[in-house]
Amino acid sequence: MAIRKIRYIGDDILKKKCKPVKAITDSTKELIQDMFDTMYEANGVGLAAPQVGILRRICVIDIREGDPVVLINPEIVESSGEQTDEEGCLSVPGKVAEVTRANYVKVSSLDMDMNPVTYEGEGLLARAMQHEIDHLDGILYGERASEPYRDLEEEEEWEEE
Ligand code: ZN
Repeated sequence: MAIRKIRYIGDDILKKKCKPVKAITDSTKELIQDMFDTMYEANGVGLAAPQVGILRRICVIDIREGDPVVLINPEIVESSGEQTDEEGCLSVPGKVAEVTRANYVKVSSLDMDMNPVTYEGEGLLARAMQHEIDHLDGILYGERASEPYRDLEEEEEWEEE
């Protein structure tokens, strides 16, 4: 288990477009495990590779309901509906902002054996997938928000993505 250093807003690496994964090597597996460890340690529901300084198209998500999800070279292939809610990000600590996103997405991805796999999500899972996939294109949720970042209220319990 290894916790990696989370990159914060202002770090240029968060604005870069990530490259596709070409093979799952031992270091890829280690990265994915470390990403889960780092996400759980920070009490987040999702983490993308650039958030730990790696410009590869990999995300991990666990909304604490259903199985954790690993996305490798993910693409949103279908989306529908709309949801508006407060969102947070481990790279923008202590802040939230309201973001409108699709309520349903279908994502094509690769599994750990590089075989194609499809995930569908609604609500929070759909939000998390859209948020994390945005990271792979250098987009922070603030760019999609309807308002500037606000300070997270102390008493609010928020699981950051
Ligand atoms: Zn984020």
